[in-house]
Parts: sequence; structure tokens; C-alpha cells
Amino acid sequence: MTTQQRIERHDALYKLLTNLPGADFGVAPECSETDPEIFFPEPGRVDLARRAIAICERCPVLEACREKAVLHGELGIWGGTTETQREKIRAARRRIQRGQEAA
Ligand code: SF4
Repeated sequence: MTTQQRIERHDALYKLLTNLPGADFGVAPECSETDPEIFFPEPGRVDLARRAIAICERCPVLEACREKAVLHGELGIWGGTTETQREKIRAARRRIQRGQEAA
């Protein structure tokens, strides 16, 4: 994925989120004022990932953003989580669903 593609993906996300109705939306997400590159850190760039996550933690659309990324398997930092963290969320949900189906 090129840097331009990454930026376009991130721009599309926050445009979508800010157009959603509801009291928690209609405001710009924190990343709208930030270099999108830090939300797609190269492997090993923990410093950039931490910076991005710190920005997400102040974002008014954090939960909706994270849920979108969990559901769609996005790359990079979304909703204050890494790809690995979101995979753990998906795995936990699969375990819960299997448990409910078995009950
Ligand atoms: S939670 Fe993070 S990635 Fe998502 S819109 Fe907000 S600042 Fe951007």
C-alpha cells in the first residue's frame, strides 16, 4: 500500500464518521488535524503507534472508529487499537459466539 493510498483510506474513514448522525458525531476526529502517516506505522515503529493511539484517546468518534476497523479488518491504528489488538477482539467475539451456539 502506498502512502497516498493510506492517506486516502484514512480520510475516507473520518469523512464517513463525521457524517454519521447523533450527538457524538458531527465533530472532526482528532486525526483530521494530524499527519495520517503515523496511523500506519512501519513494523517496529512503536513510537509512532503510541503517538497515534494517544491521539485516538482524545477522539470523539473513537468507539465507532474502532468498531468499523474490527468489522472490516482495517490496517494500521484505528480507534486507539493496533491490528493485533483488533484481531484479539475478533477472536474473543468468535469464542463468545461459539459458546452461545453450543449452549
Ligand atoms: S479514533 Fe483515531 S483513527 Fe479513528 S477517527 Fe479518531 S483519531 Fe482517527
